Amino acid sequence: MNPPWLGAETAKLKAAFAAGRFPHALLIHEAPGAGGDWLAGWIARMVLCSQARTQGSGESATSPCEHCRSCQRAAQGQHPDLMRVQPLESSTQIRIEQVRELSQELSLTAHQGGYKVGIVSPADTMNRFSANALLKTLEEPTKATVLILVATQPSRLPATILSRCQRVRVRAPERAEAVAWLEATRGPGDWDRVLGVLGVAPMLAVAADPAAVTEIASEVRRGLEEAAAGQGDPVATAERWARSELPLRLSCVENWLTDRIRGRLGAGSFFTEVRAGAHPRGHADGLDWRQLFELLDTVRDLRSSFDAPINRGLALESLLRSLDARRLN
Ligand SMILES: [Zn+2]
Repeated sequence: MNPPWLGAETAKLKAAFAAGRFPHALLIHEAPGAGGDWLAGWIARMVLCSQARTQGSGESATSPCEHCRSCQRAAQGQHPDLMRVQPLESSTQIRIEQVRELSQELSLTAHQGGYKVGIVSPADTMNRFSANALLKTLEEPTKATVLILVATQPSRLPATILSRCQRVRVRAPERAEAVAWLEATRGPGDWDRVLGVLGVAPMLAVAADPAAVTEIASEVRRGLEEAAAGQGDPVATAERWARSELPLRLSCVENWLTDRIRGRLGAGSFFTEVRAGAHPRGHADGLDWRQLFELLDTVRDLRSSFDAPINRGLALESLLRSLDARRLN
């Protein structure tokens, strides 16, 4: 089932393709896990599909049929005229050699006599050398080529690249719409809770095991509440968390802290407290505003430093200890 929240975008792209005014280069700016890669794959199948081009007229003529050999090979990543570039396993960046190879391929005639498609994702992992190399292809596009960049943070790309791509925005769906799609695609499950843990990122959720995600979420919540009550063993908990599913656990910690901050906003005490510059104690969890926001910053730093050689266990242990307000106050 196609993600319904992308319906408006696919309709616009189909119309542009049918009218023969499809852009050479697209930048799909996606909310995390909202379906940028799905849309890139759909576009590739649309322009490569061998049925669509020979069917009658009208809008449906340019939808990928999903059954022909071209569509199937494209879906399996085995179409000779479709190239995907992503960071190599050992790297967090797309390298210049990869981009040069893509440019070279795109400059050749299509194997199947139709279009050639290149997908760069996540495009915001290109370093400045790779981006520069890509610029040449964008400036002098070969006929019948489509280059698709997918990025959650396009601002990381040079303006010279951005200005040469037509932008397509992929927003996260409403939570209820995402839950309905997950149920239709994967079957019943506690998808609402899964999205609560992962954020409204249906394309991440669809690849997850809902039971495992909710179990980890419960375990993390228990660990945090014990730590806040000055109970439990922060060393053992930190070691266990650092060993497995750390990104997911950190999302849970971030959600837990955000819930606490939102809870106070709901109680209407935020402005009073901020204006007074006070850090009153005596809340159920004992932490004041400043401490909650500091903890949130710590968690976000930890999330963004997965590649850095930091001692995760120690950082987590310190985070758990600082939840125990009595140590601080
Ligand atoms: Zn097809």
